[in-house]
Amino acid sequence: MKILAITNQKGGVGKTTTCVNLAASLAANYKKVLLIDLDPQGNATTGSGVDKANLKFSIYHVLICKKSLEEVIVTCEKGGYHIAPSNRELAGAEVELVNELARETRLKQALANLEQVYDYILLDCPPALNLVTVNALTAANTVMIPMQCEYYALEGLSDLVNTIKKVRANLNATLEIEGLLRTMFDNRNMLAQQVSAQLVSHFGDKVYKSVIPRNIRLAEAPSYGLPVLIYDKTSRGAQAYLELAKEIILKNQKVKE
Ligand code: ATP
Ligand code: MG
Repeated sequence: MKILAITNQKGGVGKTTTCVNLAASLAANYKKVLLIDLDPQGNATTGSGVDKANLKFSIYHVLICKKSLEEVIVTCEKGGYHIAPSNRELAGAEVELVNELARETRLKQALANLEQVYDYILLDCPPALNLVTVNALTAANTVMIPMQCEYYALEGLSDLVNTIKKVRANLNATLEIEGLLRTMFDNRNMLAQQVSAQLVSHFGDKVYKSVIPRNIRLAEAPSYGLPVLIYDKTSRGAQAYLELAKEIILKNQKVKE
């Protein structure tokens, strides 16, 4: 099993789009996948076709009330994966966690007995380096960083890398950066090409070969509560996420050998 935190404190870079569509693409490759929505915006929940307004339990209850994940998980039938949903309630978790014991390891504890059940667990982080994100980084094996290739992209990256270093030093010694994912990529944009080249020269192998293009189908699919693979399998967006899933599966096979 592999636990992947999909994170970037910058908003709107494609974290949630990547979570939902990677989950569906891994599932299409016969992997057992759990997606955990850690954002009070609940976009991964809605994008998976789950009504966030009518949740009996959510990830909030796991982090704060110590409910088991099994009680919270629902099935995303069309996408072929499971999801631990989230909604606005989680916004309060930040404040409530502060005074709790072992506040950074709540998620890690909740995941402890799911090792046998899933091949991949994807954690959709909120756009902040807050306690919920620290919970994700503490529970994860690796980090995936989606980013848009624009001028300010690299600036925020150093804050994130520093947070990862701190978590590694104090909470999760084996945490690794699995890869940087170029999202909403527009090949005709010169600046995007330059930033992309910079990324590759700086991070080398850590940059995924798969690139996610800007594709309108990816933006439309969530309003139908569907992963793009179901909404429009032939779209460039769907094909790109299938490529990414294959790259990740291959990478993890190699690590095991
Ligand atoms: P937040 O930080 O708010 O959680 P995020 O990093 O999760 O945002 P998304 O919600 O995935 O980002 O994407 C932001 C917006 O961009 C959404 O409207 C989404 O539909 C759109 N989008 C994401 N990826 C693509 C893409 N490759 N092509 C076109 N639109 C995209
Ligand atoms: Mg998001």
